[in-house]
Amino acid sequence: MTRLRMAVIGVGHLGQHHARILADLPEVELVGVADANPDQAQLIADRLGTTAFDDFEPLLERVDAVSVVTPTIYHHHVAAAFLKQGVPVLVEKPVCRTVAEADNLINLAERAGVPFQVGHIERFNPAFEDLARRPIVPKFVEAERHGPFTGRSTDIGAVLDLMIHDLDLLLSLIGGPVRNVSAVGASVFGGHEDMVNARLEFENGCVAHVTASRISQRPKRRLRVWAPEGYAGIDFVSRKLTLVQAGEELRRHGLRVDKMDAAAKARLKDEVFGRYLQVLHLDEDRKCDQLTSELRHFVDCVKTGRRPRVSGEDGRDALELAERILAAVRCHQWNGTTDGPVGAGAFPRPSGWLFQPPQERRNEAA
Ligand code: NAD
Repeated sequence: MTRLRMAVIGVGHLGQHHARILADLPEVELVGVADANPDQAQLIADRLGTTAFDDFEPLLERVDAVSVVTPTIYHHHVAAAFLKQGVPVLVEKPVCRTVAEADNLINLAERAGVPFQVGHIERFNPAFEDLARRPIVPKFVEAERHGPFTGRSTDIGAVLDLMIHDLDLLLSLIGGPVRNVSAVGASVFGGHEDMVNARLEFENGCVAHVTASRISQRPKRRLRVWAPEGYAGIDFVSRKLTLVQAGEELRRHGLRVDKMDAAAKARLKDEVFGRYLQVLHLDEDRKCDQLTSELRHFVDCVKTGRRPRVSGEDGRDALELAERILAAVRCHQWNGTTDGPVGAGAFPRPSGWLFQPPQERRNEAA
């Protein structure tokens, strides 16, 4: 078997895991890792028994496929160089900084006739994969993605860093286009927005509420879907899927609570789940991590020429929706007037203390 010669460009927090997983795949030969920080490149190369590069250029002619895991601002520059060379590319999310950059990469991949995949990893979360196979037509969706502040990805804000995952999931589950977008977001530490809430109205009538924060104490990543077929809840952290559906009796005869006497209503309380609504918890056999699944899928697409599950167009569509949300965030009037503070950077200063702060901190601040 000829092994696919691959490299990872950018081996920081996430890229080192791309490199580790690819080095372990029997059908791949990891021919090198490149990082603008030569010490980091050497550290990862030594760990994995491959060659370190402080620039990706020498790898252009040495690889059959590449994984790009640099900060977002460099995605276009690096991915375009490989696509122009006819090398298939997996680029981390968000695909690029702008839709115009994403369109350019899509064109380059099309011209070269090679697979171009975007790293929207939650599509490979087994709980989401399971839900996506079921016949559900979402009507109302709630997505929450909260993470602690990491100090990384400060070249982008919470929309492009976190919310973009859910935007891609929503578009794949509900289907576009989105008719109306309203959003509010605030920058707490300066620079880009750190927390955002958006309401999306899809043309097919579905409504989604999406929240992202990168200054939360505990991570929380979940999706809740209400549909005529029932309810689906995903916890992306534990990879659990919960499904609820109306049982046979409810479907066939319905229920008229308004016509029930007190005793029947009292009984109903205990019979809601079981007799009328059926519940299924799915959390077994979900051991394979989604980054391994995503990379295996990319390798398979390169070998077979198949279109990736998350294509350049998917990455572009999620980015376009993200740009609309960011535009709405920029216009939000905190006092409800045009002459007051507007947008994430103008989040009003606190009007008082919610609780008494520790004395020494107050002294420091004074
Ligand atoms: P990081 O800062 O930890 O790592 C980036 C690395 O790229 C650094 O080591 C840096 O030296 C290197 N680099 C910078 N410019 C380069 C260039 N031109 N050529 C080669 N190397 C270069 O960042 P990270 O957290 O690993 O994030 C990297 C990318 O992965 C970002 O696009 C981010 O959005 C994405 N990401 C995706 C997920 C996910 O869930 N899919 C999670 C985290 C990060």
